[in-house]
Amino acid sequence: MESVDRSTVWPYDDRGQPRDFYYQRYAHPTGAAAERVLGELEGGNALLFSSGTAAGTACVFALLRPGSTVALADGAYFGTGVTLREFATWGLKVAEFDQTGPPPAGADVIWLESPSNPTLSLPDWDAARAHGAPVVCDATASTPVYLRPLDEGATVSLHSATKFLTGHHDAMLGALVTRDAELHARLRDVRTRLGLHAAPDACASLSRGLETLGERMPKHTENATEIARRLEAHPAVVKVRYPGFGGLLSFDVAGDPIPVETATKLIANQTSLGGVESSMESRYRWEGDRIPVGLLRLSVGLEDVDAIWGDLEQALQSA
Ligand code: PLP
Repeated sequence: MESVDRSTVWPYDDRGQPRDFYYQRYAHPTGAAAERVLGELEGGNALLFSSGTAAGTACVFALLRPGSTVALADGAYFGTGVTLREFATWGLKVAEFDQTGPPPAGADVIWLESPSNPTLSLPDWDAARAHGAPVVCDATASTPVYLRPLDEGATVSLHSATKFLTGHHDAMLGALVTRDAELHARLRDVRTRLGLHAAPDACASLSRGLETLGERMPKHTENATEIARRLEAHPAVVKVRYPGFGGLLSFDVAGDPIPVETATKLIANQTSLGGVESSMESRYRWEGDRIPVGLLRLSVGLEDVDAIWGDLEQALQSA
């Protein structure tokens, strides 16, 4: 575990000049250490933010202007659309599109999510590249173990590092990674000016999480692949969505999903995803008619797969 320097301020050098670190809002050693590791994993230069949402907000200020249009993948994390629409009063337009096909002509920024949460669709990278606008790709559910968006042609890779990257539901933070030096400097300025920086303790949790990411993700995949297979065969399940990697899947039951989600014992009935412990929730409570009423989002953890399945099977008796 990285040691945590919680200082908000560091002294100038003997000539009265700022050193690498002088005020926490600009940069701090615990954050810089985590950024180095994440940057290497993603093949770019990383910046950490106070949440995935703060990272997205920085993208809006750095890449978009009043009157700009952002083309947003239509099954993407519900909160991303909500955040982008907060900028409607500043003149930002949001055009949702099916990311398995071409983005709308005229979009100034393309916002992909791979895979999308909770619809688990994957973007058409050829179509996104061919469009020509800068591409932001939210790779929260893939992690760099399964996707390096910059290698696919994305301008910025975005993470809610609150999820798999940190892995233990005990730190909130976001990340942006880019190879564009000018954009990196701009995003860093936006972070400083808007006060979107990540706290040192959260950054230390990320460093700890990144130490085990390469071991955790294959196990998430192994468990989720098996759970998806068993769900497919279950009579109470009408649809399963799983991209074949990672720990996130969703499935639909025919009726009200609440009796199912509240019947689990091992699987926590809570929001969020990406922890070592399994969690599940109905997304209808948050997203309404945008998704099927019976959709349950399951973040498959690292517990024994038969124990996860046993819990799901008994909960599905309530379907
Ligand atoms: N992107 C995805 C795919 C998410 O699932 C979330 C949160 O659930 C976010 C971004 C927002 O991240 P945060 O909650 O860290 O602000």
